[in-house]
Amino acid sequence: MHLTDELSKVTLAHLRDPDGRCALRLSKEFENQRASVSANIRFRLSGRLEESASLAQTSLDSPRLSHFPTPRDFLPEERAVFAAASRWYVEIFGDRRATSAGTYDFSTPRSELGINLVGGAGLRFITDDGLPEIRILQYAGRSAIPESLFDAPEVRFSMLRNEAWIRSTGSPLLVTVADLIRGEAFVQSLSPEPLLTACNDWLATCVERIRERVIDPKPEMGTDCAWCGFISSCDAVMK
Ligand code: SF4
Repeated sequence: MHLTDELSKVTLAHLRDPDGRCALRLSKEFENQRASVSANIRFRLSGRLEESASLAQTSLDSPRLSHFPTPRDFLPEERAVFAAASRWYVEIFGDRRATSAGTYDFSTPRSELGINLVGGAGLRFITDDGLPEIRILQYAGRSAIPESLFDAPEVRFSMLRNEAWIRSTGSPLLVTVADLIRGEAFVQSLSPEPLLTACNDWLATCVERIRERVIDPKPEMGTDCAWCGFISSCDAVMK
């Protein structure tokens, strides 16, 4: 058994709104219970596009559309979205020469909190000025990107997932959040230390709230059910 098997899984969705998710679903995910595979299909597009974006800049270069071949195994609807998202990626980042700084780990164990952070962490690059850059890609995100990027749970989650890398660079950080369906992007640079402190405080508060909610979880039917990986075994829905 790995150390991470003993840690509770925490994702961006859990942190975005610890009070919003059905408590039963939250508890099953937090306890690392296995969900149905179908709940993960929607991540195919982001995974393929981010892989192409990393490969586009393995050496100092700019991304071009030729770096984003449409996956042949995609359904027609997925191919159309992939093509549109690729165009926006090149539109937004096409003049940004940079080098990919490798991929992030599958998860970030936080043993002191008893959790393991799981989920996309953004893409790492080193700009042609030598600055570390994180690109966080969204696909019609739930809400418009706030002008103060670091209020966004997506950005805070990415900072926590990349914390070791950010600290290892020891320099100011460039963060870009781009929505590849809406076609909008925001960029900010900052000194990372105060931000990392705030992100860790936010994480501890959210985890405390999650632990309170999973003590005696009750099913709460609603929009959450549509994407719930446990729906086939949920007595509340399937009765
Ligand atoms: S199917 Fe709905 S009610 Fe049942 S666990 Fe999932 S989200 Fe909760």
